[in-house]
This record gives sequence, structure tokens and C-alpha cells, in this order.
Amino acid sequence: MKLSNNELVFEAEREIKLERESTLKIIKLFQEISARKIFLERGYPSFYEMVTKHFGYCAGSAMRRINAMKLVQEMPQFEEKIESGELSLSVAADVQTFLYQEAKIERPYSLNAKIELVETCIGKSRREVEEEFARRNPERDKRETQHVISHDRLRVSFSISKELSDKLNQLKDLLGHVDPSMTTETLLEKLAELGLEKYDPARKVERAKRRKMIASSAKAETLTEEESESTSAAEVKGSRYIRAEQRHAVHDDGAGCTFVSANGQRCGAKRFLQRDHIRPFAEGGANEATNLRWMCGQHNRARSTRVP
Ligand SMILES: [Zn+2]
Repeated sequence: MKLSNNELVFEAEREIKLERESTLKIIKLFQEISARKIFLERGYPSFYEMVTKHFGYCAGSAMRRINAMKLVQEMPQFEEKIESGELSLSVAADVQTFLYQEAKIERPYSLNAKIELVETCIGKSRREVEEEFARRNPERDKRETQHVISHDRLRVSFSISKELSDKLNQLKDLLGHVDPSMTTETLLEKLAELGLEKYDPARKVERAKRRKMIASSAKAETLTEEESESTSAAEVKGSRYIRAEQRHAVHDDGAGCTFVSANGQRCGAKRFLQRDHIRPFAEGGANEATNLRWMCGQHNRARSTRVP
């Protein structure tokens, strides 16, 4: 069947209308799933994890839907604007993110001010909306953002002063003989390495040991008192750290939160882990490694299914 040009455009318009309607439906379903914290029983540490891993949205699509969800949760009067396409999902999410960032730097908007901002943004492009944000907060272009783009890459974005840019370029020139096509990433890598060598306590211990070895091999027993003192101080620091680790020993398979859902989904969150007693402390469970496991804060608090 061959459609005429007009029919093709008409068909596309019809499907796009349906797509917007179902986007809004999905957002409303998300509201309820998030409110009931269903992600926890399904083995995810956050609603975001469930939206990406269970529902299969990519990071960007997930964030757009979740942020738009939060926006219409607070201001349901804008649901129909999303459905009609006057307020795009991206713009709604950008506004929500902006309001969140403003609140975080103690410039919270009242509900009326929020509504006024959304109304200002209706029918605008993302670029125009970004200009609106910059007018409201000129400091905004100094903020720093990070996005995960793959398992081992991040996209970091921030603006820098002309002065810092000049310094970085000067460094690139100075190091140019080592690597003429040095990127900013390579330069930062070098600077981070230099900084860690100077400030990382673990490396200080290593350095002290190396110094000790060199000193003892060079001039057998003439190690100065000062040197041997600083070495032992650093070593004590190191061993105290290990002792603290032993004190909190928890059975650890290195795979993060141990919560497993009924259908076998392991949470695996690696941040903000808390010690959880397999046999509860109140029931006489011991405070030792065999009775302890890691759980993320969310699962530790809301534990509804126990891991056998
Ligand atoms: Zn968890």
C-alpha cells in the first residue's frame, strides 16, 4: 500500500499524538511505582535504577521521564501541556532540574514562582529555556555537571576562567616535547598523578618505606632519628586504618548491596553501604563478620524480604 505525501504526514502526526499521550500515561504510572517504592522489592536501590535496568530506558530518557514526573507531581496543571506537546519532556525535565539546583544552593522557589517559571517556558526550545535560567541565576554557568556515558567514562562539564585556561595551555606547551598532541584529559591525568604523589597518605607510607630502604642500603645504620620517626608515624597511621577495617569486618563478595528480590535480581548498589545483621542483633545475632553483610541504605531501612 502506497501512501500519498499528505497521508504520510497525517499518519506521523496521528502517531506522535498517541506517543505523547502514552508518555504522559507512563509518567503517571511511574509516579505510583515510585510512591509505592516498588523498586526496592524488585531489587533496585533507586527508582532510577529500575527505570534504566528493568524498563530499559537509557540514562537520558530515564532522567527526562523521572524529572518530568516530579514536575507534574507538584504541578499537575501542566499534564495537558505535556500531552499537547507545548511543554516538551526535555524542557519539563530541564525546569525540574533547575528548580532542584536552585533549592540546593538555598534559592528555593515558592509554588507560585515555580508555576510562573513553567508558564514562561511553555512553547520554548531547550536553548531558550537555558537562557531564561541564566537570566534568573547568572552564576549558573559556573556550575559543574557530570554524566555517566559508559561504565568507565564520564562527561564532565564546567566553565573555567580565561586565566586558568591560559595556565593549562602554558603547561601543555611545556609538556609538549613529551606529547605534542596532549589533550586536556591527559594533562589532568598528569596533574592528578602529581597531586596524589604529594597528598595521598598511602603513597606517603610507600615513599617513606622506599626512603628507608634506600637509606639503609646506602648508609647501613646511619638513618637519622628524624627520618625513622616520620616513617614509623606514617606506618602507624596505615595500620590504624587496617585495624578500623578489621573492626568493621563484614562478609564481602565485592558485589555491593546483598539484597536479592524474589525473582533473583541482586541490588548490588556500591555507594553508602550499611552493615546489616543477618540474624538481627535484637534476636541475639552476633556483631561479627559471619553475621554481617552489606546493604544499601534504602534496602537496610525498608528490608521487606530477607536474603537467605
Ligand atoms: Zn540495595
